[in-house]
Amino acid sequence: MPIKFYSTMTRKKEVFRPIKEGQVGMYNCGPTVYDYAHIGNFRSYVFADLLRRYFEWKGFKVKQVMNLTDVDDKIIKKSAKEGIPSSKLTERYEKAFFEDIKSLNITPATLYPRATEHIKEMVSIVQALERKGYAYKGEDGIYYKISKFKGYGKLSGTDLKGLKAGARVRQDEYDKTAASDFALWKFWNREDGNVFWETELGKGRPGWHIECSAMSMKYLGETFDIHTGGVDLIFPHHENEIAQSEAATGKRFVRYWIHNEHLLVDGQKMAKSAGNFFTLRDLLKKGYSPKAIRFLLLSAHYRTKLNFTMDAIKSAEATVKGVENFVAEMQADKGGTAEGQPKAVKRESNPQIQKVIEKARRDFEKALDDDLNTPLALKAIFDMMKEVNRMAPVSEKDAKLVLDAVFDADKVLALELSETGKVWHSPEEAEKEVRELILKRDSLRSEKKWKEADSIRESLKKKGIIVEDTAQGPRWKRL
Ligand SMILES: [Zn+2]
Repeated sequence: MPIKFYSTMTRKKEVFRPIKEGQVGMYNCGPTVYDYAHIGNFRSYVFADLLRRYFEWKGFKVKQVMNLTDVDDKIIKKSAKEGIPSSKLTERYEKAFFEDIKSLNITPATLYPRATEHIKEMVSIVQALERKGYAYKGEDGIYYKISKFKGYGKLSGTDLKGLKAGARVRQDEYDKTAASDFALWKFWNREDGNVFWETELGKGRPGWHIECSAMSMKYLGETFDIHTGGVDLIFPHHENEIAQSEAATGKRFVRYWIHNEHLLVDGQKMAKSAGNFFTLRDLLKKGYSPKAIRFLLLSAHYRTKLNFTMDAIKSAEATVKGVENFVAEMQADKGGTAEGQPKAVKRESNPQIQKVIEKARRDFEKALDDDLNTPLALKAIFDMMKEVNRMAPVSEKDAKLVLDAVFDADKVLALELSETGKVWHSPEEAEKEVRELILKRDSLRSEKKWKEADSIRESLKKKGIIVEDTAQGPRWKRL
């Protein structure tokens, strides 16, 4: 079955047809690394991950590019306020970003280009725009002349009728009523401090919008398949990306524009001033699990507003536990992979189970093919669980079939269900530092250096890791 997406450009669902058969080139607007990302940002990143995982589940090869905005108005302002170089500030939050996406089990993108490492590419797009008459010099920067680009407003539906001739905007963010010529390149001024590049365009720094045009086209080509972001980026950011890219190349920039809706907290727009602003870290500190947060973000369709409440996250927590309990039951019926689980009892296979699984798989795929309808896809899995529970306990063979189906769906959902009930792990499943210690201890043992091996065992224990030796090699678990 083909996949259909709602295209922001055409305002209807469209069958996805990639430029190259079996391959997808996708650009996701990434974080501006000047602060911890908030839970609304993570809705966009989990959505991008869902897209990526679903394409891979369907057999596509995905090239996913997510930029890191490490130079813009907000970064300059905050680093000046803290009295540190902007690179210090962006390094700190870039690190936090990678830690956060890891805890949400987001697959790393193929590439994470940084804006500051692509100034040359930005300059050459601006030069092309100057040559073609789309860019002009103002007193404080080089601007894009939006009235010259015929399609301006086509993505956001912004009307240019009320446009004041010569009106221009220097700051990166502004609203739809302020449609005007925007900055491609900002000449250096005192407030920029040490943030500038000496280029053919003069001493200065890029505008935010040109960053994404340059990095997306460099890695995905002048025309690529999918561009995503939150709905708040449709205007001006994505409208301006289209204007810059298409005027410079004369080609269509993006084939499918896909945008996810806002996340509300307690029914309101998140704002620091309203006291309803949460980073991922805030929620983890409150004791919520990353899995429940991920589940909650997936549980609403990406094009509906998601109302994030403490009750909703508690209920997500309970749902995830319920699924894990189901998996543990099936593992027990299968004959128990986890410690302390009983041996499987011999039972007859039930031909109904196979039918229930097939239906679930069909419904799951149908739901996701239809504009990534995650609530319906989740329902398919929950319906299957309900049916299986009705027939439980099931035979060893049936339990295995059910588990295979759940784990297969989990390749898309990424709730790490196959880890449920698992106590012992292989060295490969440990983080780097622990893994190296386990392997070092193993090689010391094979050299009969017992004393050194034991001292590594002790230091692992201090880290809360127990190692055990088996005929298949060492294995470990947490204390
Ligand atoms: Zn962007």
